[in-house]
Amino acid sequence: MFEKLLIANRGEIALRIQRACRELGIKTVVVHSQADTEAKYVKLADESVCIGPPPSRDSYLNVPAIISAAEVSDAEAIHPGYGFLSENADFAERVEKSGFVFIGPRPESIRLMGDKVSAKEAMTKTGVPVVPGSEGALPEDPKEVLRIARTIGYPVIIKAAGGGGGRGMRVVHTEAALLNAVTMTRTEAKAAFNNASVYLEKFLENPRHIEIQVLADEYRNAVYLGERDCSMQRRHQKIIEEGPAPGIARRQLERIGSRCAEACRKIGYRGAGTFEFLYENGEFYFIEMNTRVQVEHPVTELITGIDIVQEQIRIAAGEKLRFRQRDIALKGHAIECRINAEDPYKFTPSPGRITHWHPPGGPGIRVDSHAYTNYFVPPNYDSMIAKVLAYGDTREQAIRRMRIALSEMAVEGIQTNLALHRELLADARFVTGGTSIHYLEQKLALRGT
Ligand code: ADP
Repeated sequence: MFEKLLIANRGEIALRIQRACRELGIKTVVVHSQADTEAKYVKLADESVCIGPPPSRDSYLNVPAIISAAEVSDAEAIHPGYGFLSENADFAERVEKSGFVFIGPRPESIRLMGDKVSAKEAMTKTGVPVVPGSEGALPEDPKEVLRIARTIGYPVIIKAAGGGGGRGMRVVHTEAALLNAVTMTRTEAKAAFNNASVYLEKFLENPRHIEIQVLADEYRNAVYLGERDCSMQRRHQKIIEEGPAPGIARRQLERIGSRCAEACRKIGYRGAGTFEFLYENGEFYFIEMNTRVQVEHPVTELITGIDIVQEQIRIAAGEKLRFRQRDIALKGHAIECRINAEDPYKFTPSPGRITHWHPPGGPGIRVDSHAYTNYFVPPNYDSMIAKVLAYGDTREQAIRRMRIALSEMAVEGIQTNLALHRELLADARFVTGGTSIHYLEQKLALRGT
C-alpha cells in the first residue's frame, strides 16, 4: 500500500478521499488554491501545498504545479477526485510519466471513453446496448446525413464527439431543420472542443437516467455494484440520486450490470467507473461512461457496504478485487440530496460566509461535507456544499428519514436549495418513483420559476 497520497481536488471529495486514506493508514497531501487556504479539510491533511490563485485554471487545473507538489511532498500516488483533471487522459499520462501512480483507469481507457464516438463503438462491440444512431461520425455528404437521419427516424439528437457537461448537443424534430443544425453543431464543436466531429442519435423523448457502478482491477476482474437512478436533474445537473432504481425488474438490472462488467473485462478497464444509460420503454441505452469516482458514489456505498474510494486506492496499488459478483448483495435503499449554495428557485449561485451550519444526523443519515459554521464558500468553484444521504430498509423508510434530515438541517448566511429538496421529497410523483429526466424542469416550469 502507498505511504503517502496527494489529493488533487477540493471540497467534500478532498475530505472524502482523506478519510479513505486515514482508514487505510495512508498519509495525505492536499493541494489547494489561495481561495481554500483556510478550509478545515486542508488543515486536517498531513500536509498541504498551495498551488496557485483562486481561478481553477491557475490552481486545480495547473498540471505542472500539481506534479511539483507531488515531487516536493514525496507522494506516491495522485487521486484526482471528480471534475477538474479527473477525466483528462493527458494528465493521467503526465502523472505516470513523472513516476506517480494515477488513481484511475489507464490513460487509453480515459481517451477511449472520452470520445463519444469511440466509446459508443467500443460498447457496441462489447455487447452493451447503445442508442440507435449513425455508425461513427457523420459523413460530410449532406445526402448521406439526410439518409441516416431518415433511417433512425425523427426526432434525432446531434452530438459532438468531444462534447461533455451537457454541451455540444442539438435536438432536431424535422428533416427541414437537419442540415443547418448539423453545420451549427459542427462549428460550435470545433470552437469549444477543437473537434468538429459530430454524430446522430435517436432522441428519446421521456427517458430515465440509470447508471451502473463498476469496479475492475488490473487483472481483468470486474464487478458491478448495482445501479443508481439519477433522473432528478435540471439542465443535466443531477440533484437527487437513489439506489436501487424504483420499478425496474431486478433481473433486467442484473443483465445490464453484467454486460457492463463484461465490457470492463473486454476493454481492460481498471478502477471505478460508471456506465450511464437512458432507460425508456423498458430498454437501456448507453450514453456515456464516466472514468472516475462520481459525486453520487455514497448511494452505492450505503446499499453495498463497499467503500468505493478505498477500493479505487487498493486497485491502483495493484491489489486484486477482494470480492466476486456473487459476494455483492444490495441491501436497503439510499437517497442522496445535493445541497448547493444557490437560490432554490432562481438557481443563481450564493457564495459567501456560512454564519450558522447545522447538519442533520440520526439513524441512517450520512452527510458528506467540508462546510461548517464560519466557512466561506468561495465564488470560484462548483456550488455543491454538502451531500445528505438517507438510508433505510425500504425506499419508504429512506424517504421518511430524508424528510426528517432536511427538516433538521439549517444553513444561514448563504442561500441553499434546501427548500427545493424539501418540496421534492414531498412530491407525489417522486414518492411514487420512476420520474423521467424532464420531470424537475416541467415541475419548475409549472411553478413559473
Ligand atoms: P454529457 O457528456 O455532455 O453529459 P451525455 O451524452 O451524457 O452528455 O448526455 C447528457 C444528457 O443529454 C443526458 O443525461 C440526457 O439528458 C440527454 N441526452 C443525451 N442523449 C440523448 C438522447 N439520445 N435522447 C434524449 N436525451 C439525450
